[in-house]
Amino acid sequence: MGSKNEVATNGNNEKYDLLDVYFFRNLIKNRFFKPAVNFFFFIFLLVVIYFGLSSEPDLRFHGGIPFATTMIWDVWHPLLAFTIIIVGRLWCFACPIGATGDWTQSVFSLNKKYPEKYRNLWIAVILFLFIFAAERHLFMFTRNPPNTAYLLLFFTALAIIMGAIYEKRSFCRYICPIGLVLGVFSMLSAVELRCKSRKTCQDHDLKECVIGTEAGKACPVGEFPQTMERNNQCIMCMECVKSCSKGNIRLSPRLPGADIIKSNKKHLDEAYLVHGIIVIFLFVMGMERLQFRNIIINFVKSTLPINSITFLDLYWRNMWAVIIFLLITLGAAGLMYLSTRAALSGKNTKQKFIELSYAFIPLSLSVYLAENTFRLLKGLFYIAASIGSFFGKIWEFSPDFDTINHLQIILLIAGFVFTLWAGYLISKRTSDTENDLQPGMVAIGFVAVVYFMIGLKILTLPII
Ligand code: SF4
Ligand code: SF4
Ligand code: SF4
Repeated sequence: MGSKNEVATNGNNEKYDLLDVYFFRNLIKNRFFKPAVNFFFFIFLLVVIYFGLSSEPDLRFHGGIPFATTMIWDVWHPLLAFTIIIVGRLWCFACPIGATGDWTQSVFSLNKKYPEKYRNLWIAVILFLFIFAAERHLFMFTRNPPNTAYLLLFFTALAIIMGAIYEKRSFCRYICPIGLVLGVFSMLSAVELRCKSRKTCQDHDLKECVIGTEAGKACPVGEFPQTMERNNQCIMCMECVKSCSKGNIRLSPRLPGADIIKSNKKHLDEAYLVHGIIVIFLFVMGMERLQFRNIIINFVKSTLPINSITFLDLYWRNMWAVIIFLLITLGAAGLMYLSTRAALSGKNTKQKFIELSYAFIPLSLSVYLAENTFRLLKGLFYIAASIGSFFGKIWEFSPDFDTINHLQIILLIAGFVFTLWAGYLISKRTSDTENDLQPGMVAIGFVAVVYFMIGLKILTLPII
């Protein structure tokens, strides 16, 4: 195995390596550790699915067991959102759904290449926006335990089927909506997995991280550590740590947000998602406020006269909800596009729109966190109450809505400020000339102010 000294002589930038901490590297390289973690969470997944299927469909009415919905929407999902800035995509290391694809492949797989024309994130973007857009009216996942269980079964089955047909982790790379969002937000995270020395990689004829060895598999998402410049696709499976005989992989702390400023890899699907997350989660928070909700309900009633709850009425109401979400996401991305075009006329508007949209990742994360603040507290209080009742105590807590409201506004302000700062750095970096800097900032600043004002208006309405 290559020593640290060998790597140092090859001109690396010696960054602090978390893998050197005590027994961490040995633990990661242990062949039983990851499967054991995956198996533990797989059992938990089965328990959640079991409770979900055994419960009443709608928790607004009496009789349901909230275990599945609370564990998924009030504990797991908010915890992912709140920890991403520190640990990036570490959840993917433990994730049982991705692991089922691996387990399938260890028994059978056609190992086909994933079709070239679908090698983008549009399916994942549509799935993510659909799950949260359809949440209010169509499936009500957060209040409907059986639907939550069906959703988990759907993605588990998809990971298994894709593992049986396609090579590696095609599901994780192109389809998983949670992986997609973790990927975009991991650009902000305070850790990065990279090679220690590009020269060591160049000089290494046997690219073990690409072809795989007995010690570790080939990178399951097709990343190449030598050229990695952002966190998005790396599912932190640590296979390259095991396979690289040069010991040339590091896991290092860094300045949060480095990828959105430095990375050259920017794509339309991710740019659209960033705007989609902002408007969808502002809308969801709006629906938790009576005045906003009444405006939407009156609008729907005026455009779609519904007097009875027949199947057809429900169908149209649900389709209308999805259309509204589609329109607001397109409208938000369209606003940024027009702002870019107006400010930077004569430039390649599409390319500039993509580049500048990455400045909105901090605002997108802050809105995502704001929506999850209430859920996380609700989930933690549920756990406390359940532990209390196990010991025969009554530990009842209820969220203080004023405090939550203040936290949400603080998050929104922080996201707004960091978006302006990121916008300045991205504009500076991508400007062809000094003259481009100001228009780029104007394009970002205008849209950021629009989002901020709408967010502030919504968040200062009283919560239901
Ligand atoms: S990409 Fe999705 S399925 Fe794959 S490991 Fe991550 S969360 Fe799990
Ligand atoms: S195995 Fe991969 S990461 Fe390790 S030195 Fe070779 S090319 Fe670089
Ligand atoms: S093999 Fe390495 S680069 Fe590839 S996904 Fe796993 S940890 Fe990331």
